[in-house]
Amino acid sequence: TTIGGALAETARTHPRSFALVDVPTDRRWTYRELLTDVDALASGLLDLGITTGDRVGIWAPNCAEWVLVQYATARIGAILVTINPAYRTEELSYVLRQAGIRTLICAPQFKSSDYPAMAHQVRADCPDLLDVLVIGDDQWDQVSHGSDTTASIEEIGQTLAPDDAINIQYTSGTTGFPKGATLSHRNILNNGYFVGELVHYTPDDRICVPVPFYHCFGMVMGNLAALTHAARIVIPAPAFDPAATLRAVADEHCTSLYGVPTMFIAMLNDPVLTDLDTSSLRTGIMAGSPCPIETMKQVIDTMGIEEISICYGMTETSPVSAQTRTDDSIHRRTATVGAAGPHIEISIVDPVTREILPRGEAGELCTRGYSVMLGYWEQPDKTAEAIDADRWMHTGDIAVMDDDGYLSITGRIKDMVIRGGENLYPREIEEFLITHPDVQDVQVIGVPDEKYGEELMAWIQMRAGTTALDVHTVRAFCDGRLARHKIPRYVHVVDAFPITITGKVRKVEMRAQAATMLG
Ligand code: ATP
Ligand code: MG
Repeated sequence: TTIGGALAETARTHPRSFALVDVPTDRRWTYRELLTDVDALASGLLDLGITTGDRVGIWAPNCAEWVLVQYATARIGAILVTINPAYRTEELSYVLRQAGIRTLICAPQFKSSDYPAMAHQVRADCPDLLDVLVIGDDQWDQVSHGSDTTASIEEIGQTLAPDDAINIQYTSGTTGFPKGATLSHRNILNNGYFVGELVHYTPDDRICVPVPFYHCFGMVMGNLAALTHAARIVIPAPAFDPAATLRAVADEHCTSLYGVPTMFIAMLNDPVLTDLDTSSLRTGIMAGSPCPIETMKQVIDTMGIEEISICYGMTETSPVSAQTRTDDSIHRRTATVGAAGPHIEISIVDPVTREILPRGEAGELCTRGYSVMLGYWEQPDKTAEAIDADRWMHTGDIAVMDDDGYLSITGRIKDMVIRGGENLYPREIEEFLITHPDVQDVQVIGVPDEKYGEELMAWIQMRAGTTALDVHTVRAFCDGRLARHKIPRYVHVVDAFPITITGKVRKVEMRAQAATMLG
């Protein structure tokens, strides 16, 4: 089926189940109401002249309209390009041109981000761009109540195929310039369904989504997992706010909570956690970057999210390739990223020879199955580098697979540190340093060194009310417990790490700053 077909189906089978709750504006939609509003918007988009295959951009922080646009474009087969709300004119202009966006839908001004002004600023450089719609203004009101053409929407639906492109999602840009992964209905609808299956979603589930919709974590593991299980999406705030998220969980009795590790760390350290009743939480998903074992344990014990699951994936694979199961042992649920999802193959290969490695050896994680993207939008060379002739996606992540198929991610090829010819995985050192009682969060990078090629530098975020650590105290803590070559040579105490809007630490940026620091 298609995403539009799935929405019609859920609206038919669960018309009165709630689909969507926008907490900041206190609005809610049942599945029947959602379908009605989605089709009114889809009609308005048809009135604008948008047809199947046209690219429509959405550039907005999380809000209910984001979800309406996701489904309205899907109903008429327009390809939704999800644009990072943290982008500024340079990046916006690149994406508008690269994806050939015809209509851009943007948020009104939000805090210091004047989306309409930025959109108008780049318009002249983007010949394909015909319309800019601002959510909430008069033209938007008109478009969201298009002429009644439900019949033609149904007709268009008949012409759409599961393997059609329906989304272009740019990668997070953690390791370099974002690439536009082109994804089909089959890719993301199935992924949302299976992710939801493995955490046992039912129409009773209420999923709190503080992660951005522009990214697959929000729009697939959130929205499409909810859609395919008739569950409910709860939007706590336009952008991540730990206290607002916890309050939404308590007020809306959420049963599931999402976040990248840094978001869970922020929530665990937020004083409101102890004052609120979050006992409705049954499950949740932590994903997106390495999930520290300690953080996972605290989420289970302190927040009481017994059935939380870790997912591993990437935009290019719709996104999830591996997931922990709710009945896995506690060790597997905290120290691995689980085993391959249904109908997905995973292999670990030598990054250079591309030979499959024996179990237990670290190598590049490759994956194959329904979830692998169609390709990078209009970048056949990049696609050919990532997906080989046998359709294996080479992820650039380093992983180890155990005898039962459970995977541990030990790093990214690009983050691996080579010190004196020895491959060091920052993840291992981070896992150790976070056990220091004064350390709230830690990231380890490689910095250039004349003698060893690279040396290790730890960036440390201190727990509130503790005295700053320095290089001597940190090295003393490691002494005798880590091999000498794994002990960081430099320590840098920071208030915050440079992060992407998805909450991922940008080690490229850290390495650049460190290079300046060391002169
Ligand atoms: P870019 O490709 O632009 O550099 P990105 O890879 O961060 O950015 P995404 O597609 O959002 O963009 O993220 C996928 C990556 O996130 C994976 O390749 C992996 O490195 C990391 N990742 C995702 N989930 C996990 C996890 N559970 N544990 C460790 N790493 C993870
Ligand atoms: Mg990537």
